[in-house]
Amino acid sequence: MHIFMPPQVERILERLNEKGFEAYAVGGCVRDSLLGRQPEDWDITTSARPEQVKALFRRTIDTGILHGTVTVMMDGAGYEVTTYRIDGEYADGRHPKQVVFTPDLLEDLKRRDFTINAMAYSHKTGIVDAFGGAGDLKGRLIRCVGNPLERFEEDALRLLRAIRFSAQLGFSIEEETCDAIIRIAPNLLKVSRERIQAELTKLLQSGCPEKIKTVYEMGISPYISQAFSEVPWQSFQIPDRLSSEKYVRWGAFLRLAGSDKAVQVLKDLKMDNDTISRVKVLAVWAGREVQAEEKEIRRSMSRMLPEVWDTLVELNGYGEKVRRLTEEIRERGDCLDLKHLAVNGQDLIAAGIRPGKEMGKALEELLEWVLEDPKRNHKDILLEYFLKQKLAGNQEAWYNELR
Ligand code: ATP
Ligand code: MG
Repeated sequence: MHIFMPPQVERILERLNEKGFEAYAVGGCVRDSLLGRQPEDWDITTSARPEQVKALFRRTIDTGILHGTVTVMMDGAGYEVTTYRIDGEYADGRHPKQVVFTPDLLEDLKRRDFTINAMAYSHKTGIVDAFGGAGDLKGRLIRCVGNPLERFEEDALRLLRAIRFSAQLGFSIEEETCDAIIRIAPNLLKVSRERIQAELTKLLQSGCPEKIKTVYEMGISPYISQAFSEVPWQSFQIPDRLSSEKYVRWGAFLRLAGSDKAVQVLKDLKMDNDTISRVKVLAVWAGREVQAEEKEIRRSMSRMLPEVWDTLVELNGYGEKVRRLTEEIRERGDCLDLKHLAVNGQDLIAAGIRPGKEMGKALEELLEWVLEDPKRNHKDILLEYFLKQKLAGNQEAWYNELR
């Protein structure tokens, strides 16, 4: 069995071998190669100690030196080279409390989570598959290496990884592994929300985002967060060919939860603010109809980023006419935001307005007026309208004073 490896990986393995060390490609890259999928990155496992790895390559980065990981830079890309190790108990669920280096590849493979992730490969040795990983790839099964209860107790993140891989690969979860997930679910409380978020994000970005329902069906959701467990999940499905951007997938999942709950879920999971604000817009607008009419579409478009509008059109199923009008509005370059309004704050100050709140409001009002009819977006027209409005406003103030 020959696996195609990038030449850089071949060079790293050869160099380590020349100096008498064992070295293999390992984990996800072997799994993906056997599946005929393009591996995202190539991890290398070796009998060499981190100092020994560093001595052999010109450019290295101490990525996780305590855990045995050195990144070797080659042709502008990084390759993680990790010393064979045995993991102790996981402290924060992220890093093992102590790691012990070992000269034995099998020990290193044994610490890995699933059989399909526990294979190593080199051109010299071929595939090293001590736990039936190749068989489980054929049977399309996610199965723990060793006793699943023990493996999930060591690191509860693994139970979300199991579901995530099943979504990415379209695999089933083997029965004993499945039972263990249900039993160990409460341990997720010990895992950092950031790590949980990263797994759920990968799950939603996978080819089978609907598999997130498994998290609910297996009773795991309360241990992710209260708000997360309250999301209406049964009807979740996403349109074909929906972009796999993070905010799009989270938006598709959370849009019917209501904006407050959607935001709470993402905050619980320590999501970045940009994603939160985009998902919020999608949730706020989830139930809203728009008429397929220019004015209303311009007004709606002005309320959000262009790409968020496109996502909303998709998720809300606004239809062909809305799409076409959106295109036309963009092609004409209709003004949709203050940046493109033909007057700015300076112009209004020159026309006699005080800077501050009042001015902000005036600009917003002018924008609303232009959204109704983009032909109004000329400086003279806007200033004339503004002065008339201002006059009206002043008269009102004068009138109020008289009373
Ligand atoms: P991908 O990069 O596509 O998410 P991957 O299999 O490469 O998939 P990584 O998280 O990059 O996953 O981890 C690389 C390898 O390290 C895995 O294949 C697995 O062997 C091992 N591994 C990662 N996380 C764990 C964990 N929590 N417990 C045990 N082994 C793990
Ligand atoms: Mg990886």
